[in-house]
Amino acid sequence: MNNCIFCKIINGEIPSAKIYEDELVYAFLDISPINFGHTLVIPKEHHESASTIPEHIAGRMFHVASRIGIALKRELDLDGYNLHLADGLAAGQVVMHAHLHVVPRGVEDDFHWNWRQLVYPEGKMAEIAAAAAGRLKLD
Ligand code: 5GP
Ligand code: ZN
Repeated sequence: MNNCIFCKIINGEIPSAKIYEDELVYAFLDISPINFGHTLVIPKEHHESASTIPEHIAGRMFHVASRIGIALKRELDLDGYNLHLADGLAAGQVVMHAHLHVVPRGVEDDFHWNWRQLVYPEGKMAEIAAAAAGRLKLD
């Protein structure tokens, strides 16, 4: 993908603070971190959506991301980490090369992930679960 910023990072055309790479994935520090150490794990193959990444590569991304989370936690003496992936504009995806964020977290880091908690009307939960199961396609 010629104009993709993350493909350029993988190819070394744009510099990055690399933590890890192998034949499937590349991991480097996010330039605008939520906390210092905030890392992005990306597939070397260009995929806009996480949903098209082959399972062995997606699995490698998750494995590497969680191990980097542990390494960051130890190195920065923090308490935990979030894994986050935005798929699509509506979900907040800005760079259209799928990427998994690893965000090191401290108990008192003053960053609040503001999940809201809606309440299902009667029957809606079972209805959505059944409909989603009906549409689910796995290879
Ligand atoms: P998204 O919002 O798409 O999930 O996250 C994209 C992330 O990529 C952002 O957190 C942003 O800071 C990071 N980013 C964008 N451009 C660059 C870049 O050129 N270098 C690095 N290291 N990170 C980038
Ligand atoms: Zn790309």
